[in-house]
Amino acid sequence: PRLANQIAAGEVVERPASVAKELLENSLDAGARRIDIEVEQGGVKLLRIRDDGCGIAADDLPLALARHATSKIRDLEDLERVTSLGFRGEALASIGSVARLTLTSRTAGAGQAWQVETEGRDMEARVQPAAHPAGTSVEVRDLFFNTPARRKFLRAEKTEFEHLQEVIRRLALARFDVAFHLRHNGRSALALHEAGDETARARRVAAVCGPAFLEQALPIEVERGGLRLWGWVGLPTFSRSQADLQYFYVNGRMVRDKLVAHAVRQAYRDVLFNGRHPAFVLFLEVDPAVVDVNVHPTKHEVRFRDSRMIHDFLYGTLHHALGEVRP
Ligand code: ADP
Ligand code: MG
Repeated sequence: PRLANQIAAGEVVERPASVAKELLENSLDAGARRIDIEVEQGGVKLLRIRDDGCGIAADDLPLALARHATSKIRDLEDLERVTSLGFRGEALASIGSVARLTLTSRTAGAGQAWQVETEGRDMEARVQPAAHPAGTSVEVRDLFFNTPARRKFLRAEKTEFEHLQEVIRRLALARFDVAFHLRHNGRSALALHEAGDETARARRVAAVCGPAFLEQALPIEVERGGLRLWGWVGLPTFSRSQADLQYFYVNGRMVRDKLVAHAVRQAYRDVLFNGRHPAFVLFLEVDPAVVDVNVHPTKHEVRFRDSRMIHDFLYGTLHHALGEVRP
């Protein structure tokens, strides 16, 4: 099983950022309201994610590390309407096969916490008592310590940390209701409190995208024909320091979609005659029945039932909004 897990890890675990993505998604699936992320050396030496979610019962701890063991799908019907971020039961097994992984957890009702460890070996995980509040911590140390070929592909600490931060930014904009705290090499790198109202949401966008974006962005808020679009689009005066400031969410899930990108770019070009890479943070809310966001859970793809209608709504809304402020 170790080899099989390592092969699977090739698909799931590319770098510390991909480990972080899997662990954060697990925390969100577990209903966490606060997530603490501790990173050392860009995540290669240490990545520890602690949440206050539902926790894992002692008996289920070894199972959580087993391949294809998921608690999120029981039958084919579940698969049809899966709403969790993960469901293949592969992430922890894969990560555990290429790093030293410690899983510590406590359910709300339990008298105490329990822990299992792997060292990248075949795991017959022993469950041991531990100290931990209700919720789960996953500690991943020495990523790729036993797969030197993969380790070679890791970049400088700064680059790995930048990728990791991007993963957190994407999720932080998807879940304003969850607090995220990130520390790198012992220093606070990001502190996002739960953002319940409009002001707090704007504050989070400023913290995530930089204050300059919010100062030079146009707020959007339009509702029409069962579609709602809100967020911010960067004005031509805004010049990005970030490589890529394009965040688009459909019903709370980040998507990268050709149709969406086209509608936004076209609106910018037609109003501002500016083909530059636009910056935006936009949230589209639609009836879940007219959209399929599970086409590719990892690839951020989306399928709209009536893509023409969505395109026209996006284009029309942004065209109108940008037209009002045209320089
Ligand atoms: P998947 O998310 O696809 O189910 P994973 O390998 O990521 O598979 O996780 C395996 C299982 O471990 C999950 O189905 C879940 O039951 C449990 N689990 C993992 N992380 C957490 C967490 N942070 N809180 C509660 N349960 C968790
Ligand atoms: Mg998962």
